[in-house]
Amino acid sequence: MEYRGIAVSRGVAIAPVYLYRPWTPQVEEALIELADAESALADYYAARQEAEAELEAICSRMEAEGEADKAKIFAAHREILFDDGLCEEVEDAIRDELYHPAYAVESVYAAAALMLSKSKDKLISERSVDIVDVKNRLLRCLLHEKACSLSELERPVVVVAHDLLPSDTATLDRKNVAGIVTEVGGVTSHSAIIAKSYGIPAVLGIPGILDALYDGEEVVLDALEGRLLTGVSPEETDAYRAKKEAFLAQQAVVSRFLDRPGLTKDGRSVKIGLNIGSAKAEETDRLCHVDYVGLFRTEFLYMGSDHLPTEEEQYEAYRTVLEAGEGKEIIIRTLDIGGDKTLPYMELPQEQNPFLGNRALRLCLANEALFQTQLRALLRAAVHGKLGIMFPMVASMEDIYRAKEALSKARDSLAADGVEAGEAKVGIMIEIPAVALIADAVAKEVDFVSVGTNDLCQYLTATDRLNSAVTAYYQSYHPAMFRLMGYAAEQMNAAGKEISVCGELGGDPLAAPALVGLGISKLSMNVSSVAAVKKVLSEHTMAEMAALSAAVRRAESAGQVESLLKEFAQE
Ligand code: PEP
Ligand code: MG
Repeated sequence: MEYRGIAVSRGVAIAPVYLYRPWTPQVEEALIELADAESALADYYAARQEAEAELEAICSRMEAEGEADKAKIFAAHREILFDDGLCEEVEDAIRDELYHPAYAVESVYAAAALMLSKSKDKLISERSVDIVDVKNRLLRCLLHEKACSLSELERPVVVVAHDLLPSDTATLDRKNVAGIVTEVGGVTSHSAIIAKSYGIPAVLGIPGILDALYDGEEVVLDALEGRLLTGVSPEETDAYRAKKEAFLAQQAVVSRFLDRPGLTKDGRSVKIGLNIGSAKAEETDRLCHVDYVGLFRTEFLYMGSDHLPTEEEQYEAYRTVLEAGEGKEIIIRTLDIGGDKTLPYMELPQEQNPFLGNRALRLCLANEALFQTQLRALLRAAVHGKLGIMFPMVASMEDIYRAKEALSKARDSLAADGVEAGEAKVGIMIEIPAVALIADAVAKEVDFVSVGTNDLCQYLTATDRLNSAVTAYYQSYHPAMFRLMGYAAEQMNAAGKEISVCGELGGDPLAAPALVGLGISKLSMNVSSVAAVKKVLSEHTMAEMAALSAAVRRAESAGQVESLLKEFAQE
């Protein structure tokens, strides 16, 4: 059987399937007989022990992997599991009220979570998600449901899920995820971005695939062609093994370009940047391959935590990256939450069209305390390196004025507190067509812009970037994309201000020469694209790329653009 989807991260995987269906408990009111009370209590103790063993295993693994911060979260869960008050209440509910143990756990923990969530003290109210998390683990052990987590995989598997939320990927067991398949999501969804940055083959957008497969079923994931195959014969499997080897060998050739400078064939410099999502060494270690960090997606800092990161925590993370940069420019994007990205501990408004709603900069401007905390942390960290602060989802000059005002306010408040603040360049993302079309005015107000092609395409073609039903309409190669970026590049270059691309198109070896030809001489991407982009740029002159861009801008359809880009790559 063959299932077709969108190949978003290239590669081939041959492994059994792991169906990822996070379990959500549904506990009904249920009572037990008096005679069963002792054995019900024993069931509760056994489940608690099992949950404890799980938590300890996660903690030790995370510590061994140098993830001390995440280990702390699970250590706190262990404390909740053995909290005297909660344990006593559960025991009383079973012994005195004759509650079924599952019902006892559900009522006691849910009531505690509810009570905490109402606290005005944020630090306390944020604990309620942990209580719910512990409750669900305890219930799963009690009801003998199988654990389903991506952080504790026993062997290499192809993970098949409806969708992977950024919070699912925060603890992903990377060495055992051989491939990723989801029912929803497209090229620029966050599942795709994560898969790419980890170099995990991924095919997204296969509706109904969870029900079509069974756990442990052997599959071939051909993420070069966007196919998932089941029932593959041993001969065919061998052929796919060979395909996988050939791909890895080709990658090895490309990888020779990893440490070369970004240069066109005629020696013109193109700055190559890195997109990162954390301050972890595994990400910052890669800075040696590039000229700068073009995008630090700070939302992952927020999503990987169980509470709103404090100013101090953020300062430490930003400082770590800036110091790792050793003088290289580090562009840090302010919180880009909303749309598909949510925070478990922060209630976001329910909206009909979240991608057109109160997300990113809009949300920060509406939550002054949240924004000020981040801006203060950024300015403090700026002392330790060459920082660029970048605002996402900017639609108008008013947005820019307000964001800059907020930044001045943060600077003033640091001065009032006698805390040192560093210098930082200020820039915006071009993700909304309206702001691209006023690039001349924007250039007067900012030091730099960076084109977020993922959202730009979404807003320019009116296509939800996560909705696999409309993937065909999400045309990154639409000539309008290149016309618009060309206009913005002309305006920025004329004003002597920098323009870069940090969306997925910047790391696309087919599109990169056309972007450079438009006058964009900085491209930021996932580490997996760095070598391939450097290679393709080294094979063409600036004049050839400019001619390509001119042709692409004149094209009338995405199909024509794609042909032009492909022909160029073969030359
Ligand atoms: C973009 O929109 O192109 C971008 C880089 O931001 P994100 O993918 O995080 O929305
Ligand atoms: Mg974006």
